[in-house]
Amino acid sequence: SKADIGLIGLGVMGANLALNIAEKGFRVAVHNRTAARIGAFLGEAGALGENIIGCQTAEALVEAIERPRPIILMVQAGEAVDAQIEALKPLLDPEDIIIDAGNANFRDTQRRMRALDGHGPAFVGMGVSGGEEGARHGPSIMVGGPRAAYERIQPVLNAIAARYEGEACQAWLGPEGAGHFVKTIHNGIEYADMQMIAEIYGFLRDRHGLPAQEIAAIFARWNEGRLNSYLIEITAAVLSAEDPHGGQPLVDVIVDRAGQKGTGRWSAIEAQTLGIPATAIEAAVAARGLSSMKGEREAAEKLFPRENARQVGPVTPELLHTLEQALLAGKIVAYAQGFAVMAAASREYGWSLPLDTVARIWRAGCIIRSQFLGEIAQAFEAAPEVDNLLATPAFASLMREANGHLRQAVALGIGDGIGMPALGAALAHFDILRRGRGTANLIQAQRDYFGAHGFDRTDGLDIHHGDWRQV
Ligand code: NDP
Repeated sequence: SKADIGLIGLGVMGANLALNIAEKGFRVAVHNRTAARIGAFLGEAGALGENIIGCQTAEALVEAIERPRPIILMVQAGEAVDAQIEALKPLLDPEDIIIDAGNANFRDTQRRMRALDGHGPAFVGMGVSGGEEGARHGPSIMVGGPRAAYERIQPVLNAIAARYEGEACQAWLGPEGAGHFVKTIHNGIEYADMQMIAEIYGFLRDRHGLPAQEIAAIFARWNEGRLNSYLIEITAAVLSAEDPHGGQPLVDVIVDRAGQKGTGRWSAIEAQTLGIPATAIEAAVAARGLSSMKGEREAAEKLFPRENARQVGPVTPELLHTLEQALLAGKIVAYAQGFAVMAAASREYGWSLPLDTVARIWRAGCIIRSQFLGEIAQAFEAAPEVDNLLATPAFASLMREANGHLRQAVALGIGDGIGMPALGAALAHFDILRRGRGTANLIQAQRDYFGAHGFDRTDGLDIHHGDWRQV
């Protein structure tokens, strides 16, 4: 019989997604540019191969699928997606659907959707998170595009998605590139979350000289509490892993240069484009950039040797409590910033993004998964008119408790020359946010002085320029 769905691209993500689809009882037709991979994949599929139809050409793939034909693209983001669309377009009918499941820039998705609109199959931009494991056993799936197209593929997505307390972590989030936009912000938040964890690791390693094993135990304990999450869990696991070549902690022999594929950077760019402060995410992106300048850092270490380190006290339970709460507070601000960017995009592009649903489908199947996201979903549900997480009653109360610890941790770290860019940015954001009278009155005066840009007066008087020449 014919396949329920097609999939092109049997790389890491595509192969695992195809196995996931086959395992859930759907028939899937697969194709890959390098045809040798197709046979190899069928060999790896074992019994699941019964639900998989290997196709040597795009034509054969299209032929193998039941109409209307949904086809998932899981190829390298960028030109490969355009090439595949061009190849499929003449083979497909208007009721067929092309689903780009790679990490596309949402602007590319918007362009592709517009180009196909009325001239070919429907186009869906679908963010898939959770890496290899997620693709195989249940990813978080963020869909954008025509709702009718989503509804046709919904049964498959529902079956393959991660589950949180029985609820499938997949949803249609809005038209156009909404799905890929949300995936981009997910990755930006992921960058911030990872960077903040790394800053606390640096605090314990460089300020207190704690070995990796001891830091592992601290994160493992935190994973039992409020910070419980996949990223904290794997941090504990990673820190306790031994290097098989020598027996020292594996992290200690890993070069401190972080890679990035661009999605974190895109989220900072989109935040800037919308004029929304996402400083914790931006700091995390910049920190990866600085990490890659290994040579410059080694040279600077000689140029600017650190003063003899102050005597720091031992790592007390109180200090650990402060660091735990600091991480929580920093994380709240980073997530608040990410959700604020999505709220602004939703207004700007007319998407009506459901923020509570976004949080709900991130509770499982993605890298930032945690129970914390369940709390975010509840907070937005309870206060649907609010788009600033910090202003929801639940998170305002958490922040009231935790912000002092964030301040203390950042102050201690900075005092001893520990770089804490993301936690520091989160603290600065919070401090500026909670001061009703800021300092931009001075900026406005400067702008009026040199460029006659005008200002508003606090007393409402209809006077918008200063007589600066008197000075
Ligand atoms: P891989 O490098 O493992 O696989 C890439 C796939 O793309 C291969 O099937 C390759 O075919 C195909 N491909 C590359 N260029 C072309 C082209 N010009 N025309 C046709 N096919 C092409 O990548 P991943 O599976 O890791 O990633 C796929 C997508 O999923 C990317 O957009 C990635 O960003 C995204 N993603 C990845 C995650 C991960 O954890 N790895 C997580 C979430 C999303 P061939 O065998 O012929 O080279």
